[in-house]
Amino acid sequence: MENITNSRQRATLESDPVTATPSWKESLARAVRDPADLIEILQLDEGLLDGAKKAVELFPLAVPREFISKMRPGDPGDPLLRQVLPLGLELETSSEGREDPLGEQDFLHAPGLLKKYHGRALLVAAGTCAVNCRYCFRRNYPYGETPAGMEAWEPAFRELESDESIREIILSGGDPLVLTDSALQRLVERLDRIPHLQRLRIHSRLPIVIPSRVTDELLSTLRTSRLAPVVVVHSNHPAELDTATTEALRRFINAGIPVLNQAVLLKDVNDDADLLAELSERLVNLGAMPYYLHQLDPVTGSLHFQVPIERGLELIAALRRRLPGYAVPRYVQEIPGEAHKSVLASLPNELEEES
Ligand SMILES: *Cc1c(COP(=O)(O)O)cnc(C)c1O
Ligand code: SF4
Repeated sequence: MENITNSRQRATLESDPVTATPSWKESLARAVRDPADLIEILQLDEGLLDGAKKAVELFPLAVPREFISKMRPGDPGDPLLRQVLPLGLELETSSEGREDPLGEQDFLHAPGLLKKYHGRALLVAAGTCAVNCRYCFRRNYPYGETPAGMEAWEPAFRELESDESIREIILSGGDPLVLTDSALQRLVERLDRIPHLQRLRIHSRLPIVIPSRVTDELLSTLRTSRLAPVVVVHSNHPAELDTATTEALRRFINAGIPVLNQAVLLKDVNDDADLLAELSERLVNLGAMPYYLHQLDPVTGSLHFQVPIERGLELIAALRRRLPGYAVPRYVQEIPGEAHKSVLASLPNELEEES
């Protein structure tokens, strides 16, 4: 299929002098938060504004200009735009949608510390993200209760110290990479001193939406930690992996840090075998491994992104026919109460259907 990125026009960002590359903090500060601005920059129909204004009252808009520049102007169906554009549709309630679809609040063992699976614990290290994804399963998470500052984290550290079964600490959020490099360094140094921890995993979408976030300081924090680092990024569509983002991911890989990708299966964004295959190929070509393709968690306000599991299974079967085994992500769903994420297996008759 044709190369998606090359065929895309770049959206013009009037206030952005072409020459100056802003630091990641400037990019974060200059992210678009007013739907009227997003609509204007992308020359979209102003009729979208009413619904957008209502939707941002439930979950704010946030999208970095770097990410907007990968979208096609004038196209309300752009797959990157769909992930971030607030829609009136989000206000529709349904009996299926839940505020906390995974029952996460039952797994909080200390403020900001989720312990759900054996051997791993997850720190909700930051209460915000660089980009607010409309389908986010934590869109209703009570981030106000997330600790800020090293002292507030002490109960979580003590809980980790007292549980020797934990081998891996996952920094998640929100997005842990909205923390400054010095805050991250302090956090990692403290975790380094917990003797039974062996691995440090970071889950972040920042390298995808603000590639300059992959700073030398960040690489150095990860390289010098006693813990073995793993970075899991979150890209849903091959058009997200432009040159700047590809280079950012290469920086981790060249520093010896494994990079995995997780995606969420989203209606009219990436529910297409060609797109998913291209995403996987671009990732493996740069040395990043497709890890998970998540079935959407049924969170209130995002049900219009739902893809039926049968369709997801067909897409995975199509990927299996076309790609090396290592390039096919595991299609998973989080089922509350299960001891691990559940791999959605082939439908029983799938093998017979395949020729
Ligand atoms: C997804 C998740 C993990 C990590 O699970 P893996 O299958 O190891 O990627 C850990 N803790 C929580 C709370 C999670 O939701
Ligand atoms: S970056 Fe991740 S945590 Fe943040 S809004 Fe998007 S999906 Fe949710």
